[in-house]
This record gives sequence, structure tokens and C-alpha cells, in this order.
Amino acid sequence: MRLLAPALVRLFGLLLCAAANSAQAHDSTAYYMANEGLMVVHGETKILFDPLFRESYGQYLLLPEAMEQALYAGAPPFDGIDAVFISHHHGDHFSPADILRLLKLRPGIHLYAPNQAVMALRGVAGAGDDAVFDRVTAVDLAYKDAPVTLEMKGLLIEAVRIPHSGWPSGRVDIENIAWRVTLNGTTTVLHMGDADPNDVHFARDASYWEKNPPQMAFPPYWFFSSASGREILQDRIKPARSVGVHVPASIPADPVLRPAELRGYDLFTMPGETRVIPTED
Ligand SMILES: [Zn+2]
Ligand SMILES: [Zn+2]
Repeated sequence: MRLLAPALVRLFGLLLCAAANSAQAHDSTAYYMANEGLMVVHGETKILFDPLFRESYGQYLLLPEAMEQALYAGAPPFDGIDAVFISHHHGDHFSPADILRLLKLRPGIHLYAPNQAVMALRGVAGAGDDAVFDRVTAVDLAYKDAPVTLEMKGLLIEAVRIPHSGWPSGRVDIENIAWRVTLNGTTTVLHMGDADPNDVHFARDASYWEKNPPQMAFPPYWFFSSASGREILQDRIKPARSVGVHVPASIPADPVLRPAELRGYDLFTMPGETRVIPTED
């Protein structure tokens, strides 16, 4: 594996370049890592969602070793990352020690995360790590709070707390954030974490969802396999395209071989695969 790793890193880089070349210059690219981990690239602007985690819980994909090493090294395609977004403090989305390591190794990266995750990050930080937190923004949102808007160079960042799947009986204390991010004023994407597919969470912010529909949404796959999830996508979020994430490793890449309810949907199933995000302007 050690000999293979650099070749794999180059392969991932080539795949991304190929995807970028086939797209129009102003288009964006979504690049899949594992579970809900992915990168979105527009021009020189690069953002990551849920990129480092250690738990597969026996059914979800973990990052390939070569991809993880490229991320830490700031090697292509992970050179020049601007911001990392964390959906919630669960082991299949967020590893505090690994995110701390990434922030220390790559001083250009800004982190946006729910307060609960930032507290965990502080818990693993040492006495000399204070400066890291200058680049960390915690969003402190309770269920039913109004969405918040943040900005940094090249990014319009909107966040709303959507309860974790299992609501209202389970995991209600988990601060799950749906991040809606617009890159360079042209491409809007939505990452939902482990959002619960009940319209009551989305109906309360109907105008928020109405005003900035994403070019691409990344719902957890259970939004495709439940009627309410499909309706939320169609009637509230209205993305031009959706690609499902958090897909169990047992679900085949070939749609024909999937359970019937997932055959008609686009899913990320293989680390390194990409999608072009067309930008109509
Ligand atoms: Zn979770
Ligand atoms: Zn999860």
C-alpha cells in the first residue's frame, strides 16, 4: 500500500482535473471523499464538508489512506483549501483530534462548526494551540432558532439547525447544522449532515429555503427513500441537482443492483468520484 499511495493521490488529482476540464470555466465541481465527506471547488475557492472522521460503525465508508495523507499534506486536489464545515459531533462525521491536526498543519484553513463540535475540539487542544482557534467559528444554534449568515473571502455561509434523524425520540441533543454555502457569488451548495426528513423542520423557515435554492444539494440518502424527504427536496429546498451521501458501503454503485427505492437517484458511493455543478448565468 505504501508504494501505491502516491499513485493513488495522483489519480485523484487527475480525476479532478479531468472533471474540471470537461466543465465550463465558471462551473464548479463536487468531489467525493467518504460517508458525508466531500469537497466543492469553484475556481481557486475550495471548501470541505465533514472531511475527517474515524468511525464507520461497521457500515459506512472511511477515507482511503492516500486521500487522508493528501489532505494533511495540502497536496492536490486538496491544495489551497479555504474552509472546512462540520455538520455535527458524531464519530462518522468529525474527529476532533484529526481536525485539530489539520488546522495546525494547514494554516490557511478556516473551520466552521456547531458549538458542540468546537467544545470537543477545545477538549483535545493543548496549551500551545490557542492560535488555532482564531480560525475557528462556532455557530451556537438551538432548534427553531432563525438561520444565521456569515461571510469570509469568496464565501457566503448560511447555517440552520435541523434536528438529527431520530427526532423527536432520539439524538435531540446533537447540534446538527445544515450548511448552505455560496462560492464566489455563483455556486450554492447545501450539506445537511444527518438531517431528519420531517417537513416541520423546514416549513418554519420556508422563505429562507425559497430565497437561495442550491445548484447542488447533498442530502443523506434517507431523503430519497422516504416520501417526506423527497417532498422536502422538491417543495422546499428545490436544488437543481441532488447527490445522496451517507450511503452504506453495502449499496452498490450500479443503480440496477440497488434496492428499488434508491435506483432512480444519484448517489456518491466511491471515494474520488466527481460531479460537475453547472452554473447558469
Ligand atoms: Zn449523526
Ligand atoms: Zn452519520
